[in-house]
Amino acid sequence: MSTPIGEVFALLREKFRGDLVRPADPEYADARKIWNAMVERRPGLIARCNDVADVQLAVRAGAATGVLTAVRCGGHSLAGFSTCDGGLVIDLSRMREATVDAPARRARFSGGSMLGTVDTATQKAGLVFPSGVVSHTGAGGLVLGGGTGWLTRKFGLSCDNVEGFTLVTADGSIVRAGSRENSDLFWALRGGGGNFGVVTEFEVRLHPLTSVLLATSYCIGDDIFRILGDWREYMPGAPDALKWNISLRLVPSTDAIPTEIRGVPAASLSLAWFGDAEEGNRCFERVFAIGRHFARTKETMSFLALQTMADADFPHGRRYYTKSGYFMALDNRTIEIMVDALPSIPSPNTQIELAYLGGAAGRVAASETAFGDRSAPFIMNLLADWVDPQGDAANVAWVRRAFAALRPAMKPGVYVNFMSDDEQERVPEAYHERWERMVKVKSHYDPKNFFRLNQNVPPAGPPPKG
Ligand SMILES: Cc1cc2nc3c(=O)[nH]c(=O)nc-3n(C[C@H](O)[C@H](O)[C@H](O)COP(=O)(O)OP(=O)(O)OC[C@H]3O[C@@H](n4cnc5c(N)ncnc54)[C@H](O)[C@@H]3O)c2cc1C
Repeated sequence: MSTPIGEVFALLREKFRGDLVRPADPEYADARKIWNAMVERRPGLIARCNDVADVQLAVRAGAATGVLTAVRCGGHSLAGFSTCDGGLVIDLSRMREATVDAPARRARFSGGSMLGTVDTATQKAGLVFPSGVVSHTGAGGLVLGGGTGWLTRKFGLSCDNVEGFTLVTADGSIVRAGSRENSDLFWALRGGGGNFGVVTEFEVRLHPLTSVLLATSYCIGDDIFRILGDWREYMPGAPDALKWNISLRLVPSTDAIPTEIRGVPAASLSLAWFGDAEEGNRCFERVFAIGRHFARTKETMSFLALQTMADADFPHGRRYYTKSGYFMALDNRTIEIMVDALPSIPSPNTQIELAYLGGAAGRVAASETAFGDRSAPFIMNLLADWVDPQGDAANVAWVRRAFAALRPAMKPGVYVNFMSDDEQERVPEAYHERWERMVKVKSHYDPKNFFRLNQNVPPAGPPPKG
């Protein structure tokens, strides 16, 4: 008797031009893996699409058989949404192309592209698309969820720079969404994640930029409080040219770090400046004058070097767990809770990532896109990162403990791309006053919730029959 996943295979076998990978195939072991090794799933079929026609075939086959279906671009979903047990994975990794129209400062890239695909193509023309900070992240998931990175304050979120999407919807049709075409869908796709279909092409705006001034350092002891105190006061009035991130963590034990501070709780500072170099230098010197800074660096680097410098710090195959939230302000008690959590960090790579939004991203009206809250500018991401499965319980517990202690001071809301798989009840919180509109768009384009492996917005009412 044929199984539903066997039926999907039978439906695809003749016309599908890409690869169909099944559990018995030699490439299956690699093909099923995603970035976060905490997510160990065994799909029944991985359909590596060659082109849009393959995506349509795969969506139609999945929908016709009712088989649980995941969509994978870069496979970096922290929650593991780009795979499933026993079902179908629509894998877009062969659809990685970017074309640039330099005079118009526009680009198009396909739905399986990684950030590196886009950066490499756009930099050839001296242009940038604002995205994330690790080049092996998938552009598909990142852009659809919102997309924050080094250029967020200067040029806005990734989704703020999208002008059009082409997608395959749940009935297999090709639909374009832009400001003048299916504008509700266009609104929903900018922050709404993978809820509405498989995006096969993004049309985006670019900006001129090729290099950046970057400074880094570590502060320890009471200087952690001094520097965080300055950061929270300074950032609301800071120029858009400055992106200043702080990670609270244990100082890594690498050659570049003085031995006396290795393993010590610290604030790790990264300051990027996208503007006049003299002004940037003055800005950095002001920060470096606060307390004592260890392992201090300052350099001008290419945009591509900036975009790839963290790649090795977040490798595929380690174990990751995250919880995230927003703050309107960072009060002293909140800072104390964060700093108090540092000595009990169970793994050397685990950290509390802090970023200040504002700038161009903060000036986009809340109603303009589905992306969650822009009014609470402090974003915190508790990111546990470890190697040994035996460390699972300790690392997950550390994140949950710190999150529970910090939660009362947070503004309700969460960035969907920084959520784990145990937080589906927070999805309405992520969209709050935009929720009803999201449900309406979802109900129109995906009434049976075919695309449900995501930060899911269920359609209204019971699924229609047939
Ligand atoms: C190392 C690392 C660094 C990160 N850095 C940043 C950062 O700097 N800024 C930031 O904002 N986020 C960052 N993130 C979070 C990131 O935005 C999310 O993990 C995002 O989902 C990754 O996208 P992906 O395409 O690799 O994911 P996948 O796992 O492939 O997919 C994630 C979700 O998006 C959907 N999806 C993906 N592509 C498509 C498509 N073409 N059409 C429809 N649905 C699709 C999937 O179905 C799934 O629900 C980072 C994550 C990692 C692991």
